Amino acid sequence: MVEVVLTTDRTMMSNHHHKEFLGFGTTGPPLLFPEKFWLYFFAPKMKVIDKDGRPKEAPYGLRKIEAKLIEEGFDAAIIEPDHLRKHVKSAKVLLLSHHDYFGFGPPSSTFASLFKMETVNARSFARLIESPPVREMKRRGVKIIAGGPAAWHWKYREDKMVEWGVDTIVDGEGELIIGELVKKAMQGEKLPRFIDLKPSQSPSLDEIPLIKYPSVNGLVEVMRGCPRGCKFCSVTLRPLRFIPFDKIEKEIKLNVKYGVKDAIIHSEDVLLYGAKPPGYIIPNEEKLIKLHKLFKKHVRRVVWAHASLAAMVKGQRDSKLMDTLAEIIIDENQSWWGAEIGIETGSPRLAKIIMPQKAKPFSADEWPEIVIEGAGIMEDVGMQPAMTLIAGLPEEKEEDIIKTLELVDELWDFKAIIMPMFFVPMGLLKDKDWFKAYELSDLHMELLKRCLTHGIRQGKRILQNYFEDRWYGPLVMPFYRFFIDRIEIAARKRGYISEPGSHRGKKYENFNEIKEIKGEHIEWDKTCR
Ligand code: SF4
Repeated sequence: MVEVVLTTDRTMMSNHHHKEFLGFGTTGPPLLFPEKFWLYFFAPKMKVIDKDGRPKEAPYGLRKIEAKLIEEGFDAAIIEPDHLRKHVKSAKVLLLSHHDYFGFGPPSSTFASLFKMETVNARSFARLIESPPVREMKRRGVKIIAGGPAAWHWKYREDKMVEWGVDTIVDGEGELIIGELVKKAMQGEKLPRFIDLKPSQSPSLDEIPLIKYPSVNGLVEVMRGCPRGCKFCSVTLRPLRFIPFDKIEKEIKLNVKYGVKDAIIHSEDVLLYGAKPPGYIIPNEEKLIKLHKLFKKHVRRVVWAHASLAAMVKGQRDSKLMDTLAEIIIDENQSWWGAEIGIETGSPRLAKIIMPQKAKPFSADEWPEIVIEGAGIMEDVGMQPAMTLIAGLPEEKEEDIIKTLELVDELWDFKAIIMPMFFVPMGLLKDKDWFKAYELSDLHMELLKRCLTHGIRQGKRILQNYFEDRWYGPLVMPFYRFFIDRIEIAARKRGYISEPGSHRGKKYENFNEIKEIKGEHIEWDKTCR
């Protein structure tokens, strides 16, 4: 049995029916249907490969930490949460990771504050940490260390650290310190409560280990860091590193060897893989072609984790780069590919303040046109993205939201999901019922309703070929369609349907009033990613 156990809850330890986008379903509260239904449709239970409960696939970040510990000689393994009981007696350290421990992240915070209810992922994590095996491990003196992208959540819920007996939180890229920390924990030394890793403590390319077992949906990281410097994003603080082709290929082959035959190319901006100084913002066509050929040599289907609109437009204008990549990606195995793409705002004024480099090499004044041109390119090449908006930022004015509404209207026929995420003032998160206290202004509600209406409309179109690669696609599609229909019925009942242009001529009352109330809580922080 294992001494250093790594795990996370069911919403993370899932391949979401091989459609990572379905994972977003767990960021909503369990409305309309029982929670079991939500878990089944958005986070099915992961298969295990042995009697100890090692999962067939596991989140990539957790796999990296597992690999580092194995390389340093620890008896460490990721264990599927329902198999933790088998390791209660042997465990000395329990490592947790999550994208969204308390549902503070976007888009959970938006849904939680809208419906005044905790989200499926936050409830699922609470169930894990309150489960009998974890409680028993704690009783036996096991040290609990939590990290991952949502490590910052714990700073606002130190009461939960005490209640659940979490010893240490590690925020940042943990590869260089995890061995030392686990050693101290095993020797019973006192551990620091918080470890905030600086960008200078990030591992170099040689210090990043290769994963030893497969990642969820074949995710392989090709790059760390991002050169665009958005004000709300912590990724941008980290150094930029491009993973070399030979290492990428080894991880792809490892996933394939274990039967994971598709891949997610992971980068904060896939189109900037191999970009050159000084700005690192012009796509490197040669490297990108080689990268995509490498993936498609080994796997059936690829999707992108994230990409930027500016790089897309630049590449297409200069050399029809997107057409070339589509020729590599689209084949008999796939007719489309997805990515998460940040629009964030339709207002050039706000873009200049919060994300001055997002439009580079173009000017932030051109941002809405870049978004529209990018959408056209994606439509032409067969991309179906999930696009994000950020609202409620401290510098935001009414006119900015109106511009964002106008941009959503321009994208009305674009086959994509547009997800607005509301910036929740950090101070509020210290309260256990923070989502009940958080209010959206009428204008923000209009934006939310507009995106919901767009999402219902386009969700039905996206669904048509969403499961094209799965034999069970025709069987499950009616259920997801039923789900969208139920959302539509509920939205109509509550008056949440908002048609393009319907904001024009309307007066929205409480925008400034709510901003003033919220003002005292505002702490500018980097919480988007
Ligand atoms: S939000 Fe996206 S583009 Fe902006 S710095 Fe973060 S990763 Fe880069």
